Formats: sequence, C-alpha cells, structure tokens
Amino acid sequence: MTIANYDALIRELLAEGQSRPSGLMTQIVDEDQDVQLDELDEEIRKGHLNELVDNIFSDAVRLNASDIHIIPRAARKTEIHFRLDGYLTLWRTIDDLRADAVAAVVKDIAKGTDRFERNMAQDGFIQIQVENKIVRFRVSIIPLIGKELKVKLESIVLRVLRDPESSITIDNIGFQPQALELFKKAIEKPYGIVILTGPTGSGKSTTLLAALRAVMNPAYNIITVEDPVEYFIDGARQVKLNPKLGFDEALRAILRHDPDIVMVGEIRDKQTADLAVKLANTGHLTFSTLHTNDAPSVIARLYKMGIEPFLLAYSINIIVAQRLLRKLCERCKTIDTEVLPITFEKLGLTEEEIRDIKVYRPVGCLHCLKGYKGRTAIHEVLYFTKEVRQLIMESGSSINEEALRQLAIKQGMKTLHDSGIELLKKGITTIDEVASTTMND
Ligand SMILES: [Zn+2]
Repeated sequence: MTIANYDALIRELLAEGQSRPSGLMTQIVDEDQDVQLDELDEEIRKGHLNELVDNIFSDAVRLNASDIHIIPRAARKTEIHFRLDGYLTLWRTIDDLRADAVAAVVKDIAKGTDRFERNMAQDGFIQIQVENKIVRFRVSIIPLIGKELKVKLESIVLRVLRDPESSITIDNIGFQPQALELFKKAIEKPYGIVILTGPTGSGKSTTLLAALRAVMNPAYNIITVEDPVEYFIDGARQVKLNPKLGFDEALRAILRHDPDIVMVGEIRDKQTADLAVKLANTGHLTFSTLHTNDAPSVIARLYKMGIEPFLLAYSINIIVAQRLLRKLCERCKTIDTEVLPITFEKLGLTEEEIRDIKVYRPVGCLHCLKGYKGRTAIHEVLYFTKEVRQLIMESGSSINEEALRQLAIKQGMKTLHDSGIELLKKGITTIDEVASTTMND
C-alpha cells in the first residue's frame, strides 16, 4: 500500500475513532482466560483497551510503520508513536487510562512475556492477521522510572516484521548502474562472502533478501541462520534457534548440512566470522551483515575480530554499505535559493558544481509527510578486485582503511557521500538528508 499522506491518514483514522469494528483480538487472546479479574482488567475492559491495541497494530501496518512505540508519560498517560520513514511520529495519546493497563494488554498478547513481571527487560513476539496478511511483531519491553514512584511504568517497542514486497528486487532497490553490475557479479559467483553493512534500519536485510531471491534456484540448498528471523523466505530452510541451539552451534551444523548458499544474519564475533570464512572457503556463497559506517571499515572490523588478512582477501567477494535517504515529495518540493556557499563547500562540492547545482527544500502538502515521501537506498560498493585483494594481503599488523578506500575510489567506487550527492543533484533528496546520513565525522 502506498500512503499518500500520513497526516491526512492519521486524521482520517482518528476521525474513525474507536468505532471501527475489531476482530483481531478475539482470535489472539485465547489463553490466560481464567486469570482473576482485578482492577487492571476492569480498566482494560472499561477502556476497550483490547480494541484500541488492535487498532494500533492495524494502523501501524496500514501506515507502513517500521516500529510502534508505546511510551508511558505518566501514570495515566500513554503516547503511541509510529516510526514512519525513519522518524517517530505521534499517532495518538491515551489520556485517562492507566499506562500499565495498556502495557498489560500488549504483554498478554505477546508470546514470551510475563504480564506480572514489571522489573525485568522482556522480549516477546506477536503474530496477528491484518487485512488477510500475517504480520509479525518483535516485542521489547523495558522498565522506566516515572515521577510517580508507586507506579511501575514500562516502555514497549514493537518492530513490525513485514514480509517485504516481492516487487523489491536488486534492480529497483536503488543501486547506481555500475554498482548494480558489480553486485550482480559478486552474487553470481559460486562461492565467497557478500557483506551488507550499515546501521540498524538502513535496509540491509531487504537488500540481502533481494540478493538471495536473485540467486535462488531449486537445485540449491539455501539455509539461513538469523536471530531473530526477520522474514519468511520461500524456498529456503530457515533454522530456528532456541535455548538448545545457539547461533554458533547452528552455523557449525550447517557446514555438515550440504548447503550451497548460506545466509548468516549477522557476523557478530570471531566464531561467526570464522564460520563465514570457512563456508566461503569450502565452496559456498555466504551472505551476511555487519554494523559499520562504511565498506572499507568492514575489513578493519573483521581483522580486529581476529581474521587473518589473507583469509579476508580471498574469501570476500564484495562489501556493500547502505543507507536510506528520504525522498522529496515531487508535488511540493521548492527550489532552495538561500543555501550558503559554505554549506555546499562543507558537502565537498567544487566551485563548478556549486554553480550548476539546483537544490530543493521540503515544504509539506496533503500528499506527503513534512515535504518527504518514501525512501531510497544509496550504496558504497567495495568490489574485491585483484588489486583490492593484493592490498589487503599486504596488510601487516593493521588494516589501512584509507589506502583501501583510495584504491577503491580510483577503481570507480562511489562513496556513500558521493552517492548521496548524486541524489541531491538530481533533486531527489535534500542537503539535510545527505548530511545526516552520510557525514558521520
Ligand atoms: Zn508534498
């Protein structure tokens, strides 16, 4: 679903209020029925809280939110925020109902959380049906301190685990032509590691999934190990971790499970890194992610984890750093004539570029959210050429990230920042977006 206007839709939803029929909760709340009704339950019943929470879930899905934040502001005040295109947006405030009653409803629905536990951080999981689609939420609960000492408050965040549209492919995810060509070349190799890097929320999993789909073939045994599993992937065997089967054990077992392609959710430590390298070096295509600021720093990170330079040089095919940038609303964007030359200089533009550039600023209209509408990805693609491998091989006691970066740039790599500037020049995004997502230092 494309959302023309969050604000308008939120208004519309608010106008609909609580009169919307609710069917979800009745399907879900089937256990725990014989718990004695206490004050809290009375409050839940009086406030139609099941119905309200039901609406929160379905509205979040309809608005395409990535997360739902349920934040107690006082004993009887709860704010519900949705993260839309990367930014928290207040959806509604629940006044005059106990905040712990709202929390209790969510904890009741979630699997793995204890309603009576209010002092521990808890993780849980919810699966519901919204408009004929199964939607899963990962639930995180953390106790908070409030002004009123006798009330125990908890912050709840639900990550919406929506199966990504099957229409998302590596061709339309936002790769520039040259980067796309290299990425395809890297994932079409029969073995080697393909790494996506970037902070949480930079769309790494979506890109990995698109890559996996691009190389899927019934003749291949495709195994994934993730914690938690973000998406169901048709055609893959997705390993379920549990207290008896940890991440490392699962990976070791996979080595003996005759795989062709393996997706390791995240390289988190030496053990995981070792196993990814081992998989690559025994003839398997391995996909994984890491959290670093850019592509060259992945090498330094893996080296610090304890992986030898020659293993890094010859087991990795490609490293792709990714960010998501908000796109300007085409209907209301306006040419910004007041940008100071110093701002352009800070972005690293040359005088000639500054003369020619036309930048836009967000305005805001009925069809967008504060001048922005949707997001697109930018990439920094470090392809492992002969020269790149050679440079990594020659590393002594440390990895020279800068030398690696310069070599890659010489060979045609566009940095994240350059990719952002490209979008700026095309009038797709703003200076603020480029600066906030690609200028970390
Ligand atoms: Zn607009």
